[in-house]
Amino acid sequence: MLADQDSLIDGTKLAAQVTADVATKVAELKARGVTPGLTVVLVGDDPASAVYVGSKERTCIELGMNGETIRKPATISQDELLAIVDRLNADPAVHGILVQMPLPKHIDSDAVVRRIRPDKDVDGFHPVNVGKLSIGEKDGFAPCTPAGVLYMLQTSGVKTAGANCVVIGRSNIVGKPMASLMLQPGVDATVTVCHSRTRDLAEHTRRADILIAAVGKAQMVTADMVKAGAVVIDVGMNRIPDATKKSGTRLVGDVAFDEVREVASLITPVPGGVGKMTIAMLMSNTVRAAAQQTR
Ligand code: NAP
Repeated sequence: MLADQDSLIDGTKLAAQVTADVATKVAELKARGVTPGLTVVLVGDDPASAVYVGSKERTCIELGMNGETIRKPATISQDELLAIVDRLNADPAVHGILVQMPLPKHIDSDAVVRRIRPDKDVDGFHPVNVGKLSIGEKDGFAPCTPAGVLYMLQTSGVKTAGANCVVIGRSNIVGKPMASLMLQPGVDATVTVCHSRTRDLAEHTRRADILIAAVGKAQMVTADMVKAGAVVIDVGMNRIPDATKKSGTRLVGDVAFDEVREVASLITPVPGGVGKMTIAMLMSNTVRAAAQQTR
């Protein structure tokens, strides 16, 4: 398949579509006196986390939602952090709670995630939401990045039913929930999940009609690993050296984009692909949380 503009799945455009839909729902909720609210807790001063949290807060405000960020030093104790979560759990104006990861080493991240009320866990990482996704209960929350990928596939007209979908990566944040979403009735893909112990990765990836890379290894998926006409979704976000850039680095995905786009029928770029969807899906989850909590 020859690569052209039509082979690109435009994350920026699709994310704008999601946020436009969220804005409509925010207006409907406001008309009945509810302003959806997301509170993000940021611990420490990791620069990447600060950037993510800043854009979450900005997007909330742009959409007319309440977007609060609670910033705490890396020295906060686990009990203090849990007390913040308890306070947010009890606050009826807070519909979504997100504790930005990674947390400092002295804090048990799992304990913090488990403390968030599942109906306010808009990140979808609480075991109750993981379970709901697994058994197909629709009132839970799916993690935002894989939910964004599914939205991209469905709105790009990709036929998922019966398709061979290969997911590279089995993290709790991307790979596993991605596999659950692709498997659910209505999506109906036949799913293979690969990881670092998979034997002959290329043998699996070459069978994929839909190939989703969530590995964290720059440009590891090469054209010879991809079937002609496959749909390729690149979740990876990796920085590689680039002397032509002021920062000395540039962002690339897990897919060798230039060569793979020559064989793929559809492909997501990095940047401008999956990354754009994550915050949009977070907003979508928050608005649904607000609707569910105020029914
Ligand atoms: P992770 O927790 O490090 O998981 C990486 C997965 O890749 C693991 O399951 C690992 O296998 C597997 N893997 C590593 N090397 C492999 C190899 N050579 N062959 C096959 N599988 C291999 O990472 P993550 O959190 O899932 O994130 C993955 C990538 O997505 C990263 O680049 C991250 O920055 C990006 N990301 C992007 C967004 C977004 O909004 N676009 C959101 C989240 C993450 P094992 O389990 O065996 O170790």
